[in-house]
Amino acid sequence: MIQVANLKKSFGSLDVLKNVSFEVDKSEVIAVIGPSGSGKSTMLRSLVNLEQINGGSIRIQDQYLVKDGGYASQQQIKAITSGMGMVFQHFNLFPHLTVQGNLELAPRTVQKLTAGEVRRRSQELLGKVGLADKSDAYPARLSGGQKQRVAIARALMLNPAILLFDEPTSALDPELVGEVLRVMKQLAEEQMTMIVVTHEMGFAREVADRVLFMDNGEVVEAGTPEQIFDNPQQERTRTFLNRVV
Ligand code: ATP
Ligand code: MG
Repeated sequence: MIQVANLKKSFGSLDVLKNVSFEVDKSEVIAVIGPSGSGKSTMLRSLVNLEQINGGSIRIQDQYLVKDGGYASQQQIKAITSGMGMVFQHFNLFPHLTVQGNLELAPRTVQKLTAGEVRRRSQELLGKVGLADKSDAYPARLSGGQKQRVAIARALMLNPAILLFDEPTSALDPELVGEVLRVMKQLAEEQMTMIVVTHEMGFAREVADRVLFMDNGEVVEAGTPEQIFDNPQQERTRTFLNRVV
């Protein structure tokens, strides 16, 4: 479903991604772990064209976003990235719109659905994330966990084939982490293809099919949760895990 090959990205003289390669199959859940500054967000943002890479290839659902450093046309890029949803650490909800308004903005702009269909879908998704009673609330009146569940529902509105999460629970008070992870776990059980950058090692172990460990712009090690957590092959992986668990 996703093939990333020899991804390179630098900011000025700083090489942030150095030949990053990995693949994601349909319905797989990939957890990406690694120290701060290792390039996890940059990698994820590259997949949805929020960062432009300097070399390598990104293929998504059999279409090249970038092939050997050369980008597809703007129109193709839009078509490819419209199949992907992204959830950020800081929710990024529109503060001047209600919960319902946040969910309905993008689908209304894209105008593939009627207003009635958009409303039905937003109600259905709010129910799914346990917030059916919050559709008229403004984000400022919600807890962090509720905001993040709204952000997930919003990401689902356009029916993405792939969902990307960048530390979705890192900004939350500890007691609110579980409600967000539960929604993500449910999506995983429904066979959603997901890449999750996370510090939640328990979630990675329980829900991920595979774990990628990144350090210093490289995928140092990738494997099943058992391989990475119980039997890491690389010294850098062991050092990192000893620090975080
Ligand atoms: P964290 O766990 O702290 O979120 P990360 O693994 O997501 O870290 P990135 O945010 O991808 O790391 O950053 C990788 C490196 O790239 C860091 O050294 C960071 O300072 C640098 N970097 C990221 N974005 C930019 C930018 N827009 N301009 C310059 N440098 C950047
Ligand atoms: Mg990051």
